[in-house]
Amino acid sequence: MNILTDKHVLTRKPHLCWGCERDFPAGTTLRLVEAVNTEGFNRAYWCSVCQSVIADWHPDDCEFITRGDVKYVDPDIWEQYRDEVEGIK
Ligand SMILES: [Zn+2]
Repeated sequence: MNILTDKHVLTRKPHLCWGCERDFPAGTTLRLVEAVNTEGFNRAYWCSVCQSVIADWHPDDCEFITRGDVKYVDPDIWEQYRDEVEGIK
């Protein structure tokens, strides 16, 4: 795994979050990670909720997370983080 880019970007197009598969419109700040591994080039966007879950639960293995798994492996925990990060709607 070779990380090429790891930064926060203000998106210019809609993007799916890799961790929860939610759709975010253009103009959202997301974390962009671009990397090269044995399977080739990979680009992933992460929302602030998934970033918090990863920081606490998967600090060293974020490249092994299957798309959507930050949310679907344990939806209750993910929802708790969403309440904290985004507020209860
Ligand atoms: Zn997310």
